[in-house]
Amino acid sequence: MRVAIAELKQETNTFVPWPTTLADFEAWHRWAGEELIAGLGETNSEVAGFLDVLAGAGIEAVPLLATFAISGGPVTSDTFRTLLDDLLARLEAAAPVDGVLLALHGAMVTADEDDPDGVIISAVRAAIDADVPLVVSMDLHANLTRRGVDESDAIVGFRTSPHIDQRDTGQRAARIMVGMLRDGLRPVQAFVKIPMVVPASPHMHHLPGPFQRLMRAAAAAETGDVLSASVFTVQPWLDIVEMGFATVAVTDGDPDLAAAVARDLAARAWAEREAFLELELAPIDEAIARAVAAPAGPVILSDLADGTGAGSPGDATAVITRLLAADLNGPAYVCVRDPDAAVTAIAAGLGAAVSLSVGAKLDTVYNQPVRLDGVVTFAGPARFRFGGGGYTGVEMDMGRCAVVRAGQVSVLILGNAVMTVDPAMYRAVGLEPAEARIVVVKSHIQFRAGYDEIAREIILLDSPGMSSDHLETLPFRRIPRPMFPFDRELEFDPAAG
Ligand SMILES: [Zn+2]
Repeated sequence: MRVAIAELKQETNTFVPWPTTLADFEAWHRWAGEELIAGLGETNSEVAGFLDVLAGAGIEAVPLLATFAISGGPVTSDTFRTLLDDLLARLEAAAPVDGVLLALHGAMVTADEDDPDGVIISAVRAAIDADVPLVVSMDLHANLTRRGVDESDAIVGFRTSPHIDQRDTGQRAARIMVGMLRDGLRPVQAFVKIPMVVPASPHMHHLPGPFQRLMRAAAAAETGDVLSASVFTVQPWLDIVEMGFATVAVTDGDPDLAAAVARDLAARAWAEREAFLELELAPIDEAIARAVAAPAGPVILSDLADGTGAGSPGDATAVITRLLAADLNGPAYVCVRDPDAAVTAIAAGLGAAVSLSVGAKLDTVYNQPVRLDGVVTFAGPARFRFGGGGYTGVEMDMGRCAVVRAGQVSVLILGNAVMTVDPAMYRAVGLEPAEARIVVVKSHIQFRAGYDEIAREIILLDSPGMSSDHLETLPFRRIPRPMFPFDRELEFDPAAG
């Protein structure tokens, strides 16, 4: 038997004004065939989970395509068409296959399509016979749609935030595939869309609270004929028509049971809606003062409103400005994306004194460039591999980078958009986060997977940017109304969903 496997992932923030292009996919990875297995086989990825289970079942994995762009603005129509055509051509070349496993993010939007993940699923479905199994894994920040559910046999979501169960999720999806091929499983799915969105940082994580309660309920529902139960909490920066939380339950041939489980989880999610709302953000100067007064470092300051995992550019400067002005008692590490400033510092050379204008070249809405006078302590290309429990083993190219030190503040100037969630990023340029007083990351949640072990304290910043958790300040126009929390008194009956 042969099962085709593919990954095609990007998480869109529709409030970011510049597009995501083919170059953004190729900057992280775009692999085909055996390259895909070499690139992802030993990583914490859904593809690795697919490979684990297929190998264990003695089923041949047919690698088609794996590509992943860092979060950003809507994907250009041409880019999406190129990648989908590539996927479909490789599927056709591999035909016939006995099944298809897809790893999607689930929150991609293109310039002219709100639901490209649903388009991928339905295009793959159209390319294979109706009785060929099609099982999909998705990030829990996915925005589930009716089309995706209708055109697939099963959709299985992550359970952890920060995400550490990518490989487990791939395995869960692949086990349903193997069950269909070997044991005659006949999955049926039920789906409930819930009219709510919530901010990403304060409660959508693994610590005790509403998120943990929901994920435990989903896991507990997977008994007997319930093959999978998922709650998709959706990321909030999507101004699209079919927007909101969703639940999906998959059973072995029992639509009533699937509906009952999906409705029960939807009722639980709805009941938790207020618990998700309370923000715990600190003003920047207050956070720096707390870090200075802390008994020891490192204190992790999360500049989440410029979160690169949430599509923001990573070139916000508000935190750098306040650090440069502060009276610090130990090293502070902060990063900013600015390829031009990096090139200038590299040209000046190691040890050179430079005076640069850095940042706020993409985010010209909420931030302004900052003057940085200091000494170059690193210059050149850099890359790192994720450690910790997150995207373990996956490589990230930081581009041509420089570090400029001004007093206690070391500013890492990044050439590329980078997931800043792992201490390995700073280590790649000679900075050891464990020895710092302050370390700044640009992430809502995912940094907890990389920094929990060394962080003495974590402070979420109330900083200006394009992935703010102040949802009421974002210019939503297309989401369906009424929608919680914008319509606080909305009533919703999951049983009718
Ligand atoms: Zn996610």
